[in-house]
Amino acid sequence: MTDLINNYKISFLGGLGEIGKNCAVVQFKDKLLIIDCGIMFPTEEMPGVDLVIPDFSSILESGREISGVVITHGHEDHIGALGYLLAQIPLKIYGSSLALKISAFRVNELGLKSRATFYEVSDLERLSIGPFDVEFIPVTHSVPHSFAVAIHTEMGAIIHTGDFKLDLYPTDERRTNLSRFGEISRTETVRLLLADSTNADKAGVTESESTVGVELDKIFSDRSDSRIITACFASHLHRIEQIINVANSHGRRVKILGKSMSRNIKVACDLNVIDIPKNILIETDDIDKLDDSKLCIICTGSQGEPLAALSQLAFGQYRSVSIKNGDTVILSSHPIPGNERSVSKVINALGVKGADVYHSMMSSVHVSGHARSHEISTLISIVKPKAYIPVHGEHRHLKANASIAQKMGVSQVLVCLDGDVVEVTEQDLTVVGKVDSSYVFVDGILDDVDSNLLHERKTLALDGIVIAIVVIDPVSKRLIHPTKVITRGWVDSVEGDNLIEKAGSVVDDFLLDLPKNPSLDKNQLSDEIKILVSRFVRSNTKRKPTVVPVIIGI
Ligand SMILES: [Zn+2]
Ligand SMILES: [Zn+2]
Repeated sequence: MTDLINNYKISFLGGLGEIGKNCAVVQFKDKLLIIDCGIMFPTEEMPGVDLVIPDFSSILESGREISGVVITHGHEDHIGALGYLLAQIPLKIYGSSLALKISAFRVNELGLKSRATFYEVSDLERLSIGPFDVEFIPVTHSVPHSFAVAIHTEMGAIIHTGDFKLDLYPTDERRTNLSRFGEISRTETVRLLLADSTNADKAGVTESESTVGVELDKIFSDRSDSRIITACFASHLHRIEQIINVANSHGRRVKILGKSMSRNIKVACDLNVIDIPKNILIETDDIDKLDDSKLCIICTGSQGEPLAALSQLAFGQYRSVSIKNGDTVILSSHPIPGNERSVSKVINALGVKGADVYHSMMSSVHVSGHARSHEISTLISIVKPKAYIPVHGEHRHLKANASIAQKMGVSQVLVCLDGDVVEVTEQDLTVVGKVDSSYVFVDGILDDVDSNLLHERKTLALDGIVIAIVVIDPVSKRLIHPTKVITRGWVDSVEGDNLIEKAGSVVDDFLLDLPKNPSLDKNQLSDEIKILVSRFVRSNTKRKPTVVPVIIGI
């Protein structure tokens, strides 16, 4: 099928129906522009999975040239999958210097540096990427130098907000550039707005980032004798900057725990993205030399990630620092949906060790980086889009965002999900097809974990395994030993000894007749033994472990 020459198509490979793995592909004149290329962190439903990436097969199999990848900001759910796409195809990547530096760490770790060409763009820069006329518009968010992206077309602009909020008092005074949005709306009209939905179901406006500094200052005053440990996202550089500056104003020096945080701070200082006092940061050896009232530790792990510094502190696994009675711990963060339980465990463990914990449910130590409904309405009233598609969020967030646009009088509002292909013409906005957008699970260095494998892992975890080892004389077809049954997770090996033995005898009895059936091949025999043992296990224990026959000699 030939594509109508001036029409644009957008396919969503991720971020519509879940929080994470944001990736949208814009097609024009047989060329592709990718907006973001992120990962999603696995849920408890995905045992053993390290991360989830978008399914890139529709891009790779289309044969169309990728003009470039545009990165809206340096969060993992927008940049984390770049390496996995680069492994398949070399790419030109456009973004802020900070987002590109953070992306480069991952790409270099995977040894793919030579396949990526990075192009730094600055605020309001407009450039041609293949046939796409792309402009980078500043927005406020929870990582510095975030962008919305405008693609200027003959039918008006297509604007993608990236992740955004309307913070009027950001710590770096780099505000969401509403006047530029208004100007585009006036001078060329906005054909389509794709807008962040993460907080669309929350009324009102998200507080300014600068309010967190005020709250932190109060806690530092109240807890002036205590050692203070603060956890936040390693990429939330304005938060880290605020914590460091508050610590400094209370005469404390700062120790950073967590490799990614140290690395990001260094990059942000080199790029002048943050401004912190010289020599404020100390080495691990200096921790014990400082009085508790003179020390502030800032660490990673605010989402309860088991391998990050805060969890290790909470569970006494951090080598050089341990939590002690009277410590103050501030979680300057809010759990991402799905992480509530792990965060709760960490808060409990810290409390048991004697720490007083401040978190976002009880104190204003965190604000979100995403716009709430009134900010979204404000943006819509300035952008005045003819059409609207909510992006970034679970279905309920997308629906809430769509209803805001409808209330604001946008005539074409479309709720899409991962895999939808939307065609944008002068008049219409229509879902015209579907691409594969399944979750691709990465475990270790492989991305071959499919839903069957996940199902097997869950069955093993929930019901255990029973292995029946059968050794048969290849000539006489008689059993050489009685069948040996081994189990993990079916019955206790002491209490269930009797059952395990009986399961073996059931197989032995069946195999007595084997010499009379010499034509039975290994697969048939294996199937029969599996059925026998499964039936025995079920009727005696009402359990359904995985049964694996191991047949030697045939
Ligand atoms: Zn973000
Ligand atoms: Zn995001």
